[in-house]
Amino acid sequence: MFDIKEIIDLMISPKDKDINLISRAFSFAQKEHEGQTRDSGKPYFSHVFDVSKQLASLKMDASVISAGLLHDILEDSNIDETTLRKKFGREVTFLVKGVTKLDKYHYQGLERHAESLRKLLLAVSKDIRVLIIKITDRLHNMKTLEYVDKDKRKRIALETLEIYAPLANRLGMSEIRGELEDLAFPYVYPKKYIETKKLMKQRIVVTKKYIKKINRQLQKALVKEKMEDFTTLYRIKHLYSLYKKLPKKNMDINKIYDIYALRVIVPTVADCYRVLGIIHSQWKPLLDHIKDYIALPKPNGYQSLHTTIFTGDGGIVEIQIRTKEMHEEAQYGIATHFAYKEKKFFGGLSFKKGQKLKKKLDWMGQLIEWQKSISESGEFLESLKMDFFKDRVFIFTPKGDVIDLPEDSTSVDFAYAIHSDIGNHIYGTQINEKFSSLDTVLHSGDRVEILTRVKSKPSKKWLTHVKTALARRHINSMLAKN
Ligand code: MN
Repeated sequence: MFDIKEIIDLMISPKDKDINLISRAFSFAQKEHEGQTRDSGKPYFSHVFDVSKQLASLKMDASVISAGLLHDILEDSNIDETTLRKKFGREVTFLVKGVTKLDKYHYQGLERHAESLRKLLLAVSKDIRVLIIKITDRLHNMKTLEYVDKDKRKRIALETLEIYAPLANRLGMSEIRGELEDLAFPYVYPKKYIETKKLMKQRIVVTKKYIKKINRQLQKALVKEKMEDFTTLYRIKHLYSLYKKLPKKNMDINKIYDIYALRVIVPTVADCYRVLGIIHSQWKPLLDHIKDYIALPKPNGYQSLHTTIFTGDGGIVEIQIRTKEMHEEAQYGIATHFAYKEKKFFGGLSFKKGQKLKKKLDWMGQLIEWQKSISESGEFLESLKMDFFKDRVFIFTPKGDVIDLPEDSTSVDFAYAIHSDIGNHIYGTQINEKFSSLDTVLHSGDRVEILTRVKSKPSKKWLTHVKTALARRHINSMLAKN
């Protein structure tokens, strides 16, 4: 019934020793879960089999795939750690143990679980692959959530929405993030889910026809300009993502331009800019909607060119342009870096990738360092909620460096993010070369210059608008001194 070939076929040129390891994990897990069933009535093994297939499709290595097969074995059978280590070695055992440890509480909202979260972050900071397995595990549990009893269902869905989806997002695994959110949505907000779905359904019929027409025009334009190697495709917006965006557009779905987004995939970065040029010579872009995430990637590593165009007949469409590599990374994020790890023949690539990966995980290291240095878990939770799980905006310094801040941050947050001395002596701010008040909310792409004066000091009023825990902490400690 279960065929190991389905896993192996998803791997990039696996070695004999990889196949051997996976085969042993496969047989062992099948034997140990024998007779156990899922809530759906299916054999328990179907769960770990699916998880390991998902890991293989993310191009994870043999240890991770084996750990996927074995991930529930410490909990659900009589096998102990020593036996596991003897049979499968240190690495696989470490991964299985990491996944097992994270599971021991009933989720009841972020507030109740600051301590568990702290542990989770500590565990995954040692090896990010633990988190990738955990997210994959959660994805399959969400796909089979309908069979679970009602109370438990809501709890798991809420945890998925508040913890796992943001974590997937932080790892750049946006495809899986979208899937997790859409699977959780109907259980957490049933009414809103139905409303949003209805809204989407009405809109989608019109839009789909239209996007196909624009797609044909776009292909024609590219061919006419002698672009030879390109693929265009369109994707539909995830439902939960639409639900979150609606309030920002006064609940008017007609103002959301990326229900369908057109994508152009080309071989090189130079091609990306060429395609952008061709598009802009054909259609007029909306002024504030051109985004160059190639030159300035998002902190989670996302790269693409975005533009939104007037199509001439009253329509507005978003187009995303990227290379194939960027496309893969946009969907699977950090997992793609492990995928290329083994490919030494690319020369140099593995080192560069390693460096890039390290940089991307900086935020996690910072968070861990920081949680060690603060004692009260209340403050830790506050910082988690604001700094970690919120959507981010990207703000430029006058020199063009990017500072990444939680949504709705102000110049005061920005100043403290640069240096506490700058924050402590703010005198004024210029946003995009215009003098602005300190409580002005910053938007992605804003260029901010902080004006300082030695005599200036933090004001109590700032506490009403700052969003980062860092700024709040410095302001409080300065106020206490005076
Ligand atoms: Mn599991």
